Amino acid sequence: MISLKEEVLFTIYNAFEKWTKEGCVCKKGCSACCTQNVIITAVEGELIHRFIREHEKFEWFVAKLQQKGTSRRPQLTTNGFAANCLDGIEVQLESYGSEDPCPFLEENCCSIYEVRPFSCRCFVSTRVCGPGVPALIAESSLSASTAVMQIIEHLGQGEFIGNMFDVLLALCDLPENKKCGKLLPVSLADEGLANVVKAQPLPGFLLLEEEMETVGPLLETIFSSKVGDRSVEDILNNRK
Ligand code: SF4
Ligand code: SF4
Repeated sequence: MISLKEEVLFTIYNAFEKWTKEGCVCKKGCSACCTQNVIITAVEGELIHRFIREHEKFEWFVAKLQQKGTSRRPQLTTNGFAANCLDGIEVQLESYGSEDPCPFLEENCCSIYEVRPFSCRCFVSTRVCGPGVPALIAESSLSASTAVMQIIEHLGQGEFIGNMFDVLLALCDLPENKKCGKLLPVSLADEGLANVVKAQPLPGFLLLEEEMETVGPLLETIFSSKVGDRSVEDILNNRK
């Protein structure tokens, strides 16, 4: 059964997708942006693992994990970066993995499209990009992506966050994922665990007043959305 956090995650994904729909040309089968430089939280990783269990694609999945390239332990998560900025400390966000193509790409299509993480969903380009033609993303969408990633990290606070492949490897340690865990070389599972860090709570948004005018309605939609009989805001704040 899908967990409460996974339901909240889908609610957030859907609200962002609706908000960015206009002018966005990204679609399944468009893949120039699909690199291994993807950050995910444990909740997002659990969604992917659930998809693998439901489709019983254990060997296929472990083979994909073994194709991962170099990845890095994040020095700062999005909320860690925000906390520094709000304290007036100058820092830079680093990349999380290689720019090589993502192993989940098959014939230019994402093979886990339904459960792809937010880092993949937040590419909302208004022109089709490709070699030498970078994505064109509106400033408001960039601000919204950062704010939404902060909410997603808050949802998973205290749990793993890191490069997609490291989080997926680290989650192979859980009892429900033992079929994958048994197929994995121990050194690779250890590499995943060594490269993940803890997700942080939301220290505040990095939005300027004028950005709040455009992004605010999206945040309001997310916070007021209902999952069961509770609002997302109450769930995020651990209120009954
Ligand atoms: S960001 Fe570019 S390559 Fe990626 S889906 Fe959108 S248009 Fe396609
Ligand atoms: S998970 Fe899917 S959408 Fe994300 S980078 Fe990999 S192939 Fe692309």
